[in-house]
Amino acid sequence: TDVSTNQTEARRASAMSDEVAIQIVGMHKWYGQFHVLKDIDLTVARGERIVICGPSGSGKSTLIRCINRLEEHQRGKIIVDQTELTNDIKKVDEIRREVGMVFQHFNLFPHLTVLENCTLAPIWVRKTPKAKAEELAMQYLERVRIPEQANKFPGQLSGGQQQRVAIARSLCMNPRIMLFDEPTSALDPEMIKEVLDVMISLAEEGMTMLCVTHEMGFAKTVADRIIFMDGGEIIEQAPPETFFDNPKSERTRLFLSQIL
Ligand code: ADP
Ligand code: MG
Repeated sequence: TDVSTNQTEARRASAMSDEVAIQIVGMHKWYGQFHVLKDIDLTVARGERIVICGPSGSGKSTLIRCINRLEEHQRGKIIVDQTELTNDIKKVDEIRREVGMVFQHFNLFPHLTVLENCTLAPIWVRKTPKAKAEELAMQYLERVRIPEQANKFPGQLSGGQQQRVAIARSLCMNPRIMLFDEPTSALDPEMIKEVLDVMISLAEEGMTMLCVTHEMGFAKTVADRIIFMDGGEIIEQAPPETFFDNPKSERTRLFLSQIL
């Protein structure tokens, strides 16, 4: 199947069902003695776009890293695509195949070309034939508007271009859910828009997305729901209109007054 067929299927699937993509129930996490996530409850519907914000150190990265088990939780449940995350490594692998992640610092393989970065996992994890993987990778590189960079190395690209490669690389695994951890925070201002535009187009196609970001313009236009975290807890969650115009919590108001 080509990219446009996949997109059509994704849209249809999300339109047809109010299926749950992620369910987190009573989840706690500690780093050693430090109680970093406290009693997190969060249900994400298929196709839903969620923005997570909150002060530095509030546990945003830890929360989304728990969703593909880059971090382990100690209490409560995390269910992704109807599979519960446990120590069962087969299930963890299954879930990681369905969940793409984009990091602040791109995390591309520096010694591989852009094309090789995009085909590595499809070839080795999905066992896609090389020619097919390259064809698919080129389609996604076109989608993020950098097909001409395919044979360069990450170090030869701008930050914005590298981040778009990172997004294309994730999409090559055909994920059902995308996690973004401050994808534009390391970018020069003039490159932020080119990355946000790619994220907006993903959102328009019905991708289930959890984005940690302080780009409040993006949050207002794209998010179905905004989650505000502080001190390891979800303090408030609401659709953007309510969140920005009528925040309930004093801590949310204080945070918004500092960033807007
Ligand atoms: P945020 O992404 O909201 O800035 P993080 O999830 O990165 O927050 O971190 C939450 C808290 O956990 C911070 O106090 C941070 O110092 C601490 N922390 C993060 N990672 C680790 C780790 N691997 N070991 C110990 N403490 C950590
Ligand atoms: Mg973080």
